[in-house]
Amino acid sequence: MRLGWRDLGTLRADRADGRPVEISGFPLAVLPAASTDHFLLMAEPGCCGGCVPRNRLAVVEVVAERPLELNAGALTLSGTWRVIDDREGWRYRLADAVAEAGPTRRALMAASALFCLPASTLAQAGEGLAVDIHSHAGNLNPMSFGRGQFAAVAEPMRQGGLAAICLAVVSDSPIIKLTDGRLRPSRDPRPGELYDHTQRAFGVLHELARQQGLAIVRTAGELSAARASRPSVVVSSEGADFLEGRIERLDEAYQRWALRHLQLTHYRPNELGDIQTEPSVQGGLTTFGAEVVRRCNRMGIVVDVAHGTYELVTKAAAVTTKPLVLSHTSLTERPAAWTRRILPDHARAVAATGGVIGIWPFSGFFPNIVAYADGMARMAEIVGVDHVGLGTDLLGLGGASALAGYADLPQLAAALRTKFNVAETDKILGGNYRRVFEASLR
Ligand SMILES: [Zn+2]
Ligand SMILES: [Zn+2]
Repeated sequence: MRLGWRDLGTLRADRADGRPVEISGFPLAVLPAASTDHFLLMAEPGCCGGCVPRNRLAVVEVVAERPLELNAGALTLSGTWRVIDDREGWRYRLADAVAEAGPTRRALMAASALFCLPASTLAQAGEGLAVDIHSHAGNLNPMSFGRGQFAAVAEPMRQGGLAAICLAVVSDSPIIKLTDGRLRPSRDPRPGELYDHTQRAFGVLHELARQQGLAIVRTAGELSAARASRPSVVVSSEGADFLEGRIERLDEAYQRWALRHLQLTHYRPNELGDIQTEPSVQGGLTTFGAEVVRRCNRMGIVVDVAHGTYELVTKAAAVTTKPLVLSHTSLTERPAAWTRRILPDHARAVAATGGVIGIWPFSGFFPNIVAYADGMARMAEIVGVDHVGLGTDLLGLGGASALAGYADLPQLAAALRTKFNVAETDKILGGNYRRVFEASLR
């Protein structure tokens, strides 16, 4: 694959990590030398009389297989692309580089002056942080029952340029069955059953993270530090059924499993409140549900109201002192019976808390990536671009997805860029969640 200088800083360059690439540019030796195996490659010959560009997206660090002569102007190099993202230095490295026959346009400028630029100016601000706010990647749910094997998570995240995912165990899955064309509770859980199941599932999540080298996010700073080159997970639970009405289990999950994102309800009307896919029986949020929201606010756990009824959301919005997340849904003006989609007022209730609504790429609603980006734009028209996010429900969707996997994320970013500018696209793909996460963990 051939990379151009405009690709640097985009998902195309980040997803090329580990792959063979070709790139042309002008070499600059870190120390004066006619021949070296370690130098910098720049978009333009020299700059301001020999300085290194301030923009680290205009520089690639090169480690060559053998010393190269640096006196022939532009070079075309091939080698293995590495996303290093060293914040004090360069973001990209070309390893095992060899020179191809390339055009010779200009003599190389003097190669002396890394020293004319303080290191602090090399770091570049404002890079997007892509976060999936609802995911079951890695085959988490079957593995919680001891079935199947882990699917790759870290590698597709690196390929797609995704820094972090909210990886969710499913708290009520032992009793959920497909009935009447939708997922419904098949029976009441036995005492301790959903607690035991969820403990097992959290253990599987941590094992997945350990095996694939995924960092566990425990603080707002750790989310900010996440990068596609070292992907991270926010431990999440879809459903607070494991609490079984006992508030102290929230503290246990926070300490023992690093739980930082809790979805109150799932496919079972539980101790916290009512859900969209069953008749309402508790008037929205219960007293215990409100207690859990307040405790999450105090402890630093993101509160997610996905699957909850409109009444649950408005009551949670009245109780919470932190922004709410509704991690996976989409907008509808004419809701079908038992739909998981939401009306504009439902969306506005979440946005009014300063929160984020993740758009769900279910292919029944969005047949392809362009339609999925349209769905994000429709939500942004209602609540504003500061309140829209990415909620893939990867490996949890009961059907095909418009986003087949994380490696396709650059295509989504490109589709969004036809509707939004760079800053807005960054917000949707992760910046908005980061804001909510920081507010929630403060
Ligand atoms: Zn769900
Ligand atoms: Zn899910």
